[in-house]
Amino acid sequence: MMWADLLPANLTNADCVARAARLQHWRIRIAQIPAIVRRQERQLVETNMPTLKAAIIPVTPLQQNCAVIWDDETKVGAVVDPGGDVDQIVAALGETGAKIEKILLTHGHVDHAAGAAELKERLDVPIVGPDLRDKFLLQSLAAQCKAYGISSGRDVLPDTWLEEGDTVAVGPFTFDVFHCPGHTPGHLVFVDRKLGFALVGDVLFQGSIGRTDFPYGDGPALIDAVRTKLFPLGDEIGFICGHGPGSTIGEERRNNPFVGERTQAEIR
Ligand SMILES: [Zn+2]
Repeated sequence: MMWADLLPANLTNADCVARAARLQHWRIRIAQIPAIVRRQERQLVETNMPTLKAAIIPVTPLQQNCAVIWDDETKVGAVVDPGGDVDQIVAALGETGAKIEKILLTHGHVDHAAGAAELKERLDVPIVGPDLRDKFLLQSLAAQCKAYGISSGRDVLPDTWLEEGDTVAVGPFTFDVFHCPGHTPGHLVFVDRKLGFALVGDVLFQGSIGRTDFPYGDGPALIDAVRTKLFPLGDEIGFICGHGPGSTIGEERRNNPFVGERTQAEIR
């Protein structure tokens, strides 16, 4: 399990320096975590502001980054994209002390959603998202599981569909909902601009973007969504993505070989 602690954006100068460094923590693996957590907890006392904590549990053979996010004070939080390995997710919840109020889904792929039905039953919480346009994927999760050799995944439908412009609360935090299709038709991204934090699923990765070679994939739509919806959020936004280490919008805007500025310049 990988941990990260995230603070709101409107901090003092000294805090901002610390925060810029903190965004890199998502790239730090388990062995370095205890020192980070100690530093962050001192920071929390200094700032006296709500702190979002996050734990990442790689699930399924596809090693998808299931994320647990929660408010450090009230412990209220959410599980994002429980693709499978529900026992591991529940064990992580025990370690974090997070009190889960909902399950968020970015999109309907098996490694993100196939554990949602079981986790919903075990936690007795609602499933929120993705966009209705991923319904056909959520209704074929069991079949997707067979294709990918994943056991025990089930079809699921959310209690609430989300769409562009909606907001979704997690404890004291408010995430804006962005529809970013291309990887799947109903893919959503969740952004808390005050925190400077986003959950981008399989839209954008460190140095890459989500694959679009599915029958329903749309490469131009994905690139358009990243450039017109995610990049304008600001360079300081840090994100957790569906696979591999997180990054910042600024880093990807400058250097991402698929969608960054250099690529854009070449296309022109
Ligand atoms: Zn996906």
